[in-house]
Amino acid sequence: MRSIPRRIVAALALAVALPLAACGGGGDGDNVVIGTKFDQPGLGLKNPDGTMTGFDVDVARYVAEQLGYTDDQIVWKEAPSAQRETLIANGQVDYIVATYSITDSRKERVSFAGPYLITGQSLLVRADNTDIVGAESLENNKKLCSVTGSTPAQRIKDQYPGVQLQQYDTYSACVEALKNGAVDAVTTDEVILAGYAAQSPGTFKIVGGTFSEERYGVGLKKGDTELQTKINDALVKMFESGAWKAAWDNNLGASGLPAPTPPTIDQT
Ligand code: GLU
Repeated sequence: MRSIPRRIVAALALAVALPLAACGGGGDGDNVVIGTKFDQPGLGLKNPDGTMTGFDVDVARYVAEQLGYTDDQIVWKEAPSAQRETLIANGQVDYIVATYSITDSRKERVSFAGPYLITGQSLLVRADNTDIVGAESLENNKKLCSVTGSTPAQRIKDQYPGVQLQQYDTYSACVEALKNGAVDAVTTDEVILAGYAAQSPGTFKIVGGTFSEERYGVGLKKGDTELQTKINDALVKMFESGAWKAAWDNNLGASGLPAPTPPTIDQT
């Protein structure tokens, strides 16, 4: 039997290797693995039928398309707040779009593209509550829920040490606890709280305004400037084409928050 010519073997090897190299982290060459939230309505939500919806999901999809992936090449992976840096550092995801604030301490382990949205920390209480009007009123023996590994939980620990903070793994668990009376308030970014409030009309209200600036970025492998540049370019295209505004309107338009304008990209 004749052996396979060497140049064909080389061409085959290249054909296999190239898509793998192009893919970077968690993907297997044909797919792109994207980390997002599965339990945040309006932002990142896995529906009972398995479909994914939300503003972050739309941003992630737009970026994937710009990177050359079709919709069925996307593999969604749940990225809870406390696990995001690890998922990226271990190569389990290619990138994360999950209400992920750009911070200096996170930048020690991951890089970011963006920002693609700016929001701020706020408070969610039951609709009939009258005595919680801001973070200070929580020091009056109130139970506050937030999520492990999040910037809002850290800010409460740093700035309001007198507050009884309970840290759960997800905001949906906090909102459930708020509904059944186990806690008095939930704190995280206003846009996230607005998504939960819109899901259960008349049950909750947002109070206290915003008391931080949270700049959402797309998390990616530390130092991968090539991917970072490609994602920044995709975000600019999303802003300028009107797709970003459409994603806001479709996912968060009903939340009652005023439509923001796209931020200026500054992660390089
Ligand atoms: N944006 C904040 C953070 O990245 C809170 C939202 C979240 O935990 O996903 O920590």
